[in-house]
Amino acid sequence: MPRQAFETFIRAAGDAASEQGVELLASFDDGNRSDIEIAAPLLLDRGIRGAFFPCAGRIGQRHYLAGADLRELRGMGFEIGSHGMDHVAWTALDAAGLTRELHAARTMLEQTIGQPLHSAAIPFGAYDRRVLKAMRAANYSTVHSSDPGLNQPGAWMPRRWGYRQDQPFDFGALVARSRQPLFRLMTALKRHAKSLR
Ligand SMILES: [Zn+2]
Repeated sequence: MPRQAFETFIRAAGDAASEQGVELLASFDDGNRSDIEIAAPLLLDRGIRGAFFPCAGRIGQRHYLAGADLRELRGMGFEIGSHGMDHVAWTALDAAGLTRELHAARTMLEQTIGQPLHSAAIPFGAYDRRVLKAMRAANYSTVHSSDPGLNQPGAWMPRRWGYRQDQPFDFGALVARSRQPLFRLMTALKRHAKSLR
């Protein structure tokens, strides 16, 4: 997404959230350098909460955040969580692979930022019964999905609205849709089916 489009989007989202009476958490997966170069300053300027979910296996690589960047983001008051190690679909992994993604990645990130880490964002939004069970066993306090919708405070698996540059953005419409009983029923059913797979 071009920088200009992103800045316009974030400003509109912050204003719309205030108008709609919802609290906005802007979250960024993958640990791209633009997190600290573009997103963080804008969020600070607009007073919008932010959460960053880097992949442990990409820290310090070209175009990705370095360890010092993660500590700086944390120092700015942003949440840092895990997006796993290698950006793979967790549903496709064996037990050793899940351990690497859920435990080794978290440990590596904790050592990098020098603090315990409590949340994760699931790559590709791909989960099933086994992944959720492993995440509960690993004591993640928050697991960010890619299922759309609004959240109650303290939700264990928050929903997220993804935004892409090629989609029209109307935050008010998203909020209104999220509140519709039929939307809530359908997304709840989808989530239930996913978590039972
Ligand atoms: Zn990702």
